[in-house]
Amino acid sequence: MAKRYSVGILGATGTVGQRFIQLLQGHPQFEITALAASDRSAGKPFAEACVWKLAGEIPENVRDIVVTPIEPPLDCDIIFSSLPSNVARETEENFARAGFPVISNSSSFRMDEDVPLLIPEINTDHLGLIEIQQKKRGFGKGFIVTNPNCAVASFAPPLAALHRKFGVESAIVTTLQAISGAGYPGVSAMDITDNVLPYIAGEEPKVEIEAQKILGKFADGVIEKADFAVSAQCFRVDVLDGHTASVRVDLRQTATMEDVIAAMREFPSLSLHSSPESFMEVMEEPSRPQPRIDRDRGKGMTITVGRVFPDNVFDYRFVSLSHNTVRGAAGSAILNAELLIDRGII
Ligand code: NAP
Repeated sequence: MAKRYSVGILGATGTVGQRFIQLLQGHPQFEITALAASDRSAGKPFAEACVWKLAGEIPENVRDIVVTPIEPPLDCDIIFSSLPSNVARETEENFARAGFPVISNSSSFRMDEDVPLLIPEINTDHLGLIEIQQKKRGFGKGFIVTNPNCAVASFAPPLAALHRKFGVESAIVTTLQAISGAGYPGVSAMDITDNVLPYIAGEEPKVEIEAQKILGKFADGVIEKADFAVSAQCFRVDVLDGHTASVRVDLRQTATMEDVIAAMREFPSLSLHSSPESFMEVMEEPSRPQPRIDRDRGKGMTITVGRVFPDNVFDYRFVSLSHNTVRGAAGSAILNAELLIDRGII
């Protein structure tokens, strides 16, 4: 039987925190023993503190856990963090300093040069930064790893497939992001119903820089970022879950459409507990992917790509989709923890 680890969730009452709780039900390696959130929730049993927004009841195993403040120590081996970025930086650092592995969804540390920004199928070698981080920051046993912005998670995998095979020169990315990406209560119904919002605070800069770090080469203790430019426009749309990205890309080498599709389809998945059978699925039906129909593919961990065609201005265009609170947040963080255990780092 697999060794079991106790886990604590920071921001447990939120949109991503609830998804962590749902995805961790019946997990063979992880058991939830601590839940932490703001002063509004601390001191209350989870069932009283949380406005549960996912299908079904609040799971029995967390109902009576008393929510704590976001201060170390917590009664657990591993910390999953889904805190707003304004509180995440100090809090996650405090936990790492107190000896905890911190697996974070927030943007606070993603671009720090000694912090891995992981998509396990793509850049496992970046785990080499952990030792450097521990030494540099005097963390002892603790450390921080991060997963990408939820919109980046939807297009970085197909971009990685193309970059590895043909080299990416530049890309234009237009994201159509779900309401749940703004957390709860998020955007008001008056703003989003029957509407498209052409601004998501702080989002476009993240979408323009994170993929280059993820696809960067790790050598001599540093990540040399991939040398391509991304231009992004990010929209909030009237969809509950699932971020769509419309991408146009220029490649460094010539590739046929069959080559492009094969590069995405053949990109291997891993064999960790939360790995989907296919990391990317490429659909040929003209009207796919669609968030409502395709976001749960591979239990929310598969990236669905479609509309792959030569483009009149760029080399190729495609549309890609991923579930923002699963592959774009909690599911990726859980996959990161499984990877860290598999590699003997936890
Ligand atoms: P959310 O629904 O607003 O939840 C925020 C959580 O953080 C709640 O548990 C809240 O606790 C807690 N919190 C808020 N302010 C706090 C404070 N000052 N001190 C301690 N706890 C505090 O947000 P979310 O969508 O889950 O996002 C959480 C993080 O994940 C953010 O950094 C976000 O950018 C990132 N992320 C989100 C998504 C997504 O699709 N939603 C995807 C990727 C990454 P209370 O309930 O007690 O207020």
